[in-house]
Amino acid sequence: MKKIAILGSTGSIGTQTLEIVRENKDIEVLGLAAGNNITLLENQIREFNPVKVAVWDEKKALQLKQNIADLNVEVLTGMGGLLEIAAMDGTEILVTAIVGMIGIRPTIAAIRAGKDIALANKETLVTAGHIIMPLAKECGVKILPVDSEHSAIFQSLAGSRHGEIHKLLLTASGGPFRGKKEEDLLNIRVEDALKHPNWTMGQKITIDSSTLVNKGLEVMEARWLFNVDIDDIQVVVQPQSIIHSMVEFVDGAVIAQLGTPDMKLPIQYALYYPERRFLPGDRLDFWKIRQIDFEEPDMDTFYGLKLAYEAGRTGGTLPTVFNAANELAVSQFLKREIKYLEIIEIIEDCMRAHKVIESPTVEQILDTEAATYERILSRR
Ligand code: NDP
Repeated sequence: MKKIAILGSTGSIGTQTLEIVRENKDIEVLGLAAGNNITLLENQIREFNPVKVAVWDEKKALQLKQNIADLNVEVLTGMGGLLEIAAMDGTEILVTAIVGMIGIRPTIAAIRAGKDIALANKETLVTAGHIIMPLAKECGVKILPVDSEHSAIFQSLAGSRHGEIHKLLLTASGGPFRGKKEEDLLNIRVEDALKHPNWTMGQKITIDSSTLVNKGLEVMEARWLFNVDIDDIQVVVQPQSIIHSMVEFVDGAVIAQLGTPDMKLPIQYALYYPERRFLPGDRLDFWKIRQIDFEEPDMDTFYGLKLAYEAGRTGGTLPTVFNAANELAVSQFLKREIKYLEIIEIIEDCMRAHKVIESPTVEQILDTEAATYERILSRR
């Protein structure tokens, strides 16, 4: 039996991870953590019988405790709860399916406790990759990518050596506004930006996909995961989302991973790595596909991607500013407090105002996050 814990079990990645657990009979879930959704969490507890669970919201945690008084499950709360689930006894893998920089400390705790990480929470690597990757090496734990593009690169790299990589080709669908220009984006509503052409995901990442900020975060994530220079990562728009990413090797060979857009494949690959398991679902039918298109990303209209390269190239605390500004701006957009194009304006404003700290500690990263939020909130 493989034993796991999941941070963010009630979200898009979390619930799909539990679908894999349900379909395979050899994974035991020892710990679950969620933010607020105690109704779904209770269903998950009754189905998967974890030993411990954590709920971020203290009142909701108390409520859950009462609701499951008939069960022998420990209910924890706050950051303490996340840290305890991350490092709990008996698990081999922690699935980090939580959203945002809140994932940094639990991920570090899990690595220190010797857990392999199935990493969906890209914000952690974007902001603290310089801490996470060396620590994982030191502790002898694997960081297994869950993001479909990074899983594709990971799969394409199987059997090769690091020095053989020439560049990484990170594919992008281009999102719902591909081909549009700035003037077309002036009055984008929340519901327009939440319509992703190929993937069904959580709200924040869906908005990030529409602005290409998600691709920018993925570029920074890939830089740490695969230890390559940021300028050796090329974004290629591939609108049908059939090619999930590619690696060009020094001899010019390009190896890609293709498949139907289904997050269960990369999640399952991370959970069972290096084994491949049967996965039910649609398969690619190359007699029907007919054509796969490629385009250069429009970094003038979607200049969040350009800003991400700048943040990644500069490093230090600038990726944190990029990420934190985006997190708050997206939540303001979702609450209809700002306009769509303001998301990127806010990111740029925060980046220009920031004095970069090189090789920041976790505290400095979290302070930078707080200062970025403060700057944005003082705008109003
Ligand atoms: P969702 O918004 O669907 O889910 C987020 C999860 O995190 C929920 O379970 C939520 O709990 C939980 N959560 C949020 N805040 C806290 C907190 N403070 N304490 C404990 N739990 C918390 O997000 P996604 O599943 O879409 O994304 C998760 C991560 O995976 C992100 O980093 C995203 O970039 C990445 N990712 C997602 C992909 C996808 O297809 N969805 C693809 C690739 C990467 P609750 O709902 O109960 O509040």
